[in-house]
Amino acid sequence: MSPESLARAVARERRPEAASPGDASRYVNAWVEDEALGDERVRAFVLILRTRGCYWADAKGCSMCGYARDTLGRSATPAELARQLEHALRRYRDEPYVKIYTSGSFLDDREVDPPSREAIVRAFSGRARRLLLETLPEFATGEALSPLREAFGGELEVALGLETTDPVVLGRYVHKNAPPSAYFDAAERLRRLGLRAKAYLLLKPPYLTEGEAIADVERSVREAAPKFDALSVNPVHIQGGTVVEWMFRRGRYRPPWLWSVVEVLRRGAVTRGSSRLVSFPTAGGLPRGPHNCGACDTTVLAAIEEASLAQRFDRLDALDCACRASWRASCRLEAAGVEA
Ligand code: SF4
Ligand SMILES: [Zn+2]
Repeated sequence: MSPESLARAVARERRPEAASPGDASRYVNAWVEDEALGDERVRAFVLILRTRGCYWADAKGCSMCGYARDTLGRSATPAELARQLEHALRRYRDEPYVKIYTSGSFLDDREVDPPSREAIVRAFSGRARRLLLETLPEFATGEALSPLREAFGGELEVALGLETTDPVVLGRYVHKNAPPSAYFDAAERLRRLGLRAKAYLLLKPPYLTEGEAIADVERSVREAAPKFDALSVNPVHIQGGTVVEWMFRRGRYRPPWLWSVVEVLRRGAVTRGSSRLVSFPTAGGLPRGPHNCGACDTTVLAAIEEASLAQRFDRLDALDCACRASWRASCRLEAAGVEA
């Protein structure tokens, strides 16, 4: 099967049936996590709203993204979104950093209608100091964002899934719908509006070797740093209903090593300029997430998190385990075209 037809077949299979009103009144998930605002350690409230999800996931979707499974299969009504917000606010304890996700784009009217967007943002105004929302670049416009800037008294941060600055990797391997230049243009618009711009960078899209993946993130950090206030390295974890899962099941994909995360942070520390560089790996240490040998995963993950929060990357140099040599060897063997 060609990568193109595989992506479309996987997209068809993962789409959920249209949800009942009961399901649509419940957000997907909410939790609190450690974060930093500048040098200050804070708690962040993370909320995932249930919406129709990313329109691109219907058509083809990105090779590593299975978020379509958390969506409604139809648009949420304003009343349903209001109920999700109401439920979420019951758990909110005035954490100073709030992150709102939708398994798609918060700024796509088909996912969250403009009055609901304003209501959601306003609910945290005066309580949170920074509010992050995520979107595809085409929706990051002055028209969509200006009302939110008015509605929220604090700092707005908009996250874009740039993934890589290489157009071939982004189009052919990640399967994004727009080139890196669209993300750079959106970041410029955000900064002109006085908002913070954050980019996610993907570590190890399918079809790249471990070494190629490290080089891809290293270059992406260098090229994206001048345009974004924060860069977050997201190592691939295997989500259900994705091309990456299809390959993983057939033994054709291994999630990245945590050593690779360490390596891109060490290298990125030199080229990140004034951007924050962070990584908080999802499913770290698990077989379907970025992992090492099992013995050192907890220690290495803790060091990655601490380096990200403190913006101090020097302590990563001291990490070691016998498996670091295996990681180096597998990078060398892959580069030589030998199955590791
Ligand atoms: S990664 Fe983003 S753009 Fe790609 S399918 Fe998922 S939600 Fe849509
Ligand atoms: Zn180890």
